Amino acid sequence: MRAIIIEKGEGGTVARLGDFPEDDLMEGDVTVRVTHSTVNYKDGLAITGKAPVVRHFPMIGGIDFAGVVETSHHPDFKPGDPVVLNGWGLGETHLGGYAELARVKGDWLVALPQGLSPAQAMAIGTAGYTAMLCVMALERYGVTPDRGPALVTGAAGGVGSVAVSLLSDRGWRVIASTGRVEEADYLMSLGANEIMDRSELSGPAKPLGKERWAATVDTVGSTTLANALSMTAYGGAVAACGLAGGMDLPGSVMPFILRAVALLGIDSVYAPKARRIEAWSRLAQELDREKLASMTRTIACDEIIPVARDILAGKVRGRVVVEI
Ligand code: NDP
Repeated sequence: MRAIIIEKGEGGTVARLGDFPEDDLMEGDVTVRVTHSTVNYKDGLAITGKAPVVRHFPMIGGIDFAGVVETSHHPDFKPGDPVVLNGWGLGETHLGGYAELARVKGDWLVALPQGLSPAQAMAIGTAGYTAMLCVMALERYGVTPDRGPALVTGAAGGVGSVAVSLLSDRGWRVIASTGRVEEADYLMSLGANEIMDRSELSGPAKPLGKERWAATVDTVGSTTLANALSMTAYGGAVAACGLAGGMDLPGSVMPFILRAVALLGIDSVYAPKARRIEAWSRLAQELDREKLASMTRTIACDEIIPVARDILAGKVRGRVVVEI
């Protein structure tokens, strides 16, 4: 079967589109015919080898997929069921979604919610599902739109675009921070009320800045996250999910101890199944389909490797669906 195969070469990892023997699929109680996958930031890291995402070689890339169950020994799934999978080490330790077939543990799968096609599920992908996990975390913490605006960093990226749309449709005034101010019209069309140049958040953070927002979805990390914290209003919260700008956090404890600001960590890979089901079902109900379509483009398998390079270079807007 055709697959994006990641191997360890002498000079580092090498990715190529090639043939992978079906017999070499890993253990699992469900085999899925993959119809769609996507390119997330982590796929960019895995394919280029810029970070040690892949821990088993040869690996099939792709940290998520949507498709139809082909064979199943799991009580919850039968042939023909549409399913979605993200995380659980897919494309890292377990053969991933950039292939015509995937064999996985049925416990990892989520039944595709009604009203969502496999292509739409991958337009959302791990990025959009993570944006929903961020929104759910902010809501669980109890921060509400009447307390002030919501900041989204890396707004023109995948997580950012979905977060802007979700927050706006839930009544938040959204401040979209981006390095691509030329994407202002795009971000406004998703629901942003204000565009902020990312440079405003990329310098050293003051221990406490002016209180400017009540909530943040941060995909950037580093000084951006430190600034987001320092400008969070009393009792607000920051959902931190990304490191597109760096994995350090050069900040101060002052927002936590003088303004009761909360830092909420978001992990999509090992999120418990009940939370995944809630996130996917809310995405099916709440995410505006027209906005989703406007932030998505579709590519073929032979474009995955160049797009993976582009996403690390910050050149990909919104979401990318791969037709397998
Ligand atoms: P994208 O590349 O689509 O989005 C990242 C965005 O960050 C870019 O579009 C850009 O936005 C901004 N950005 C890129 N480089 C820099 C930089 N050097 N400094 C400041 N901003 C920068 O990636 P995804 O949306 O797929 O993922 C976003 C982040 O979230 C990644 O770090 C990813 O690893 C992480 N993630 C984490 C998950 C988890 O489980 N915790 C799950 C999914 C994603 P703009 O052009 O608007 O400035």
